[in-house]
Amino acid sequence: MEIYVWKGDITSIQADAVVNAANSSLMGGGGVDGAIHRVGGPKIAEECRILKLKKYPNGLPTGQCTLTSGGQLPAKYVIHAVGPVWKGGEFWEASLLESCYKNILQLAHERGFESIAVPSISTGIFAYPKEQATPIAIKTVLDHKEHFPRKIVFVCFDKESKDLYEETLKNLGVSFKEGILSF
Ligand code: ADP
Repeated sequence: MEIYVWKGDITSIQADAVVNAANSSLMGGGGVDGAIHRVGGPKIAEECRILKLKKYPNGLPTGQCTLTSGGQLPAKYVIHAVGPVWKGGEFWEASLLESCYKNILQLAHERGFESIAVPSISTGIFAYPKEQATPIAIKTVLDHKEHFPRKIVFVCFDKESKDLYEETLKNLGVSFKEGILSF
């Protein structure tokens, strides 16, 4: 297994699947969600609309994820995952964020994906503090090695996030690669 930390836009990554920081309506939004729908084109939104209609009439619950094609993205598939909205930390945010990463890995494993790229879920519009979300993301992934894809990229949108991911991995003694040149 290989862990990468990469700073940039998740929509440019050619992996088996990229993860969308979605919201439960599956109807699109800002941040990663907006970028994925903008670059991936209308096919993804149409698949989301059907999933919502048939499978998640009350919305995709927080902590869970679902799959669509990658539309026009370089990635083959999009895993839409709903992270928790930060409400101060006493509303099961940590365990919901953990479920999110766990379910992403499980879905990727079930589908036989070898490479996935994951953004820092909940740390944008959902306002989860990055210094708390980052160790949860990394530790949850490491705790589920049985579902580990061959390659996982933690995609960071800014330097602060990248530094946090790298620092956390170093503190845990986990080796990782920078960039995705060989991805
Ligand atoms: P959430 O609603 O789960 O907080 P956001 O998409 O608002 O999701 O943000 C999640 C994280 O993804 C934030 O750290 C944000 O800076 C980052 N981000 C935003 N756009 C992109 C992008 N195009 N590629 C990668 N990361 C992004």
